[in-house]
Amino acid sequence: MSQLIQQLLDNNREWVQEKLAVDQDYFNRTADGQHPKILWIGCSDSRVPPDQLTKTNPGEIFVHRNIANLVVQTDMNMLSVLQYSVEVLKVEHVIVCGHYGCGGVRAALGTHQYGLIDNWLRQIKDTINFYWELVKDLDETAREKRIVELNVVEQVYNLGKTNIIRNAWQSTGKPFLHGWVYDVKTGLVTEHTPAIHDDAGIDQICKYAASQINLKVRPANQYTSVDSLL
Ligand SMILES: [Zn+2]
Repeated sequence: MSQLIQQLLDNNREWVQEKLAVDQDYFNRTADGQHPKILWIGCSDSRVPPDQLTKTNPGEIFVHRNIANLVVQTDMNMLSVLQYSVEVLKVEHVIVCGHYGCGGVRAALGTHQYGLIDNWLRQIKDTINFYWELVKDLDETAREKRIVELNVVEQVYNLGKTNIIRNAWQSTGKPFLHGWVYDVKTGLVTEHTPAIHDDAGIDQICKYAASQINLKVRPANQYTSVDSLL
């Protein structure tokens, strides 16, 4: 077995001992079931661990992660996590958390082809195109940060348009939706949407309603070949 894998297994045994030393019933309690109040939709990036950066314990956050924390209406995996957490676990908050330095956003801003993932990143390329007028004059670093923030807002908007969330709002007024960005350089989280729990809140962050965008204004020579197929 590789040394790294052995280390992980050793760490696990050590962690169990540490937990039991503080609380003999710890695992008996976690085995009883979970009652998380929060659903976290975050990036798969290894530097953004939801429980560590929020100082929460196992059982407190239900988690879905994918590259660039996207909420895609046809993603059965994300929709299943959302439906189960909202309708069965009855989470009170859904947090979409992006992060500066996101490889997915960086790739979407570039023109290099990475293969299959280019199709996934297509969602972010749309966001870049929508908001190009807002970001075109920024330098590369500032533009990437702004797209990370706008991507989070877009995903909160997408969440608010799912039947799962809309039905939950109608019957219970929950969950609240939140758009966060984590800064890998400082460890700090900033909020990029208000706490939203109704259609009026979603309308507030709608790019069309806010007239923040112009369609198809990104110069054609900045599109990748994937773009040119569409
Ligand atoms: Zn990322």
